[in-house]
Amino acid sequence: MDTTIRTTPALVRAYGRLFMNRRAYTLQSVRPHLETGRHYYFRPQGKLAGRPLGLTPATIQRHLEGEITIGLYSINPATQRSKWVAIDADYDGAMEDLLKLQYHLLRDSVDAALEMSKRGGHLWIFMERPALARDCRIYIYNLALQLGVQIKAAGPGEGIEIFPRHDELRLGEFGNAIRGPLGVHRGANRRYWFYGADYDLEKQMAYLNRLRKISEEQLRQFIAGKTLPPEFERKRPSSSDVVHSLPATGREFRILDHVGKVRRVGRNYVTKCPSCAETGHDRGGDNLAISIEDPRKYICWAGCTREMIRRAVGCPIPERRTA
Ligand SMILES: [Zn+2]
Repeated sequence: MDTTIRTTPALVRAYGRLFMNRRAYTLQSVRPHLETGRHYYFRPQGKLAGRPLGLTPATIQRHLEGEITIGLYSINPATQRSKWVAIDADYDGAMEDLLKLQYHLLRDSVDAALEMSKRGGHLWIFMERPALARDCRIYIYNLALQLGVQIKAAGPGEGIEIFPRHDELRLGEFGNAIRGPLGVHRGANRRYWFYGADYDLEKQMAYLNRLRKISEEQLRQFIAGKTLPPEFERKRPSSSDVVHSLPATGREFRILDHVGKVRRVGRNYVTKCPSCAETGHDRGGDNLAISIEDPRKYICWAGCTREMIRRAVGCPIPERRTA
């Protein structure tokens, strides 16, 4: 495994400048999940009081040197903006779609960097200054539709996934993270590079820095008169919906009342995680484990919190109990 790469403070700073939108991040588990063999991402917690850890130069350095693998969030919740758009494609014919997008982006004078992935690849586009997530999405969704490139919607079916995956985040939300480029994929146990430069950290970063970035003016022109195709408007519960969907009585919440078919694996039931499903994840339908002995206990292996799962099934945890 090529984990012996050494980085420099300048490379770490350049990486942060290009990719870091907020301090929160995810970490890919080093060990595979016992049942699925997959390496899930989770939000790392500090030793003290389970406070989430924030991305630091040291974290980025460890990622680039291959010791850990981080996932990056696209939206800064304070501004609802992102420094980049990443297009993830991992199905048969994925590369063809990504190359088609790359070619047509170039016709808009937009440089897009193609990164290898375990299956297919990721196409990265950078903004001169962080742009509204909504505007980024309007541009890419419309371009993909125009080119006949399938976009993955919630539920089954293949297609590209576009990060940012939300127009905006509410307080306490994170949206979806994507594997940070230039690290080591734990599942594949190897580093993936951008095709546009030699497979060397310094050259890769120089390549990314050299790419033309989309200016605000350009983006404004690209999306003039356009909206997000209605089928991709993300519905999320508003705070008033949440109140109505609380159970009428004080009956204890039982996750088994709210999930689909379960199967028995060892001492747990396993089923699709409702929170993962909301964002089109958990296609395998096995992220959520529910203890058979005590069905009040459940965990999503992809890292969804209890709050996220409860919200996804329309039974959010009442505020007073989340202290
Ligand atoms: Zn989940």
